[in-house]
Amino acid sequence: MRVLLVEDERALAGAVQRGLTAQGLLTDVQHDGVAGLDAAMAGTYDVVVLDLMLPGMNGYEVCRQLRAADVWTPILVLSAKDGDYDQIDALELGADDYLTKPFSFPVLVARLRSLMRRQGVGRHPVLSAGDLRLDPATREASRGSTPLDLTPREFGLLHYLLRNKGVVVTKLDILQNVWDVSHDGGESAENVVEVYVGYLRRKIDQPFGVRSIQTVRGAGYLLTDSISS
Ligand code: CA
Repeated sequence: MRVLLVEDERALAGAVQRGLTAQGLLTDVQHDGVAGLDAAMAGTYDVVVLDLMLPGMNGYEVCRQLRAADVWTPILVLSAKDGDYDQIDALELGADDYLTKPFSFPVLVARLRSLMRRQGVGRHPVLSAGDLRLDPATREASRGSTPLDLTPREFGLLHYLLRNKGVVVTKLDILQNVWDVSHDGGESAENVVEVYVGYLRRKIDQPFGVRSIQTVRGAGYLLTDSISS
C-alpha cells in the first residue's frame, strides 16, 4: 500500500515517513502543494495525507483540484488549524478525514487503515494462491484455516508476490516495490531479499509441507498455487 504525504515541515514529514514505512505503508513525500497535486494526480496512491498550509498551493486547493479531476484517492487532511470551520471546509472540498496537529502517530495509522479499508472494497481484493490467502485491507494472511503471523515486511513481500502470481519477479523488482525505492540494488540489498524470502517460506510453506514460492535460478522468484513439497 502506498501513501503520499504532502507536508512542508521537513522534520515532521521525515518522521511520519519513517514511521509509516515501518508499518508497511510505503510513503512518498512532497513538500509543496503543486508537487503534491502532481504526484496525487498520477493516481498510484492508496491514500493521501495532506497538510493544509503549504507553499505553492494550499491543501484546500489540492483537494478541490483532485476531486475536480475525478481522482478519488482517499484524503486525510493534517493541519495545525483546528477550528470547526476549517474542518468543514476541508471535508466539503472532498477530504475524507481530518486530524489536528499535534496528532498521535498510532491514531494516524489507524485512521489511514480505516480509510483504505473503506475504499478497499473491490480495489484491494483478497488475494490467494491455493489455500494461501491475504487480505490487504485487514492485513491478515492465512494458510487454510491457520492464521499467519507475519511482520510488516514479510506481509509486504507476500502481498507483492501474490499480486504477481504466476509471474517471475526479480530481486530488484522486489527491492523497489517492497523496500524503499531509495535502496539501490547491489549484492547486499539482494541478499536481504533472499533472507526475507527464506523467512516467508518458513512461515507460509514449510510448516504446511507445500512449496508456493519457487526460486527461478538467475531470474528471481515465482509464486504459484502451492505444490506439495
Ligand atoms: Ca504546513
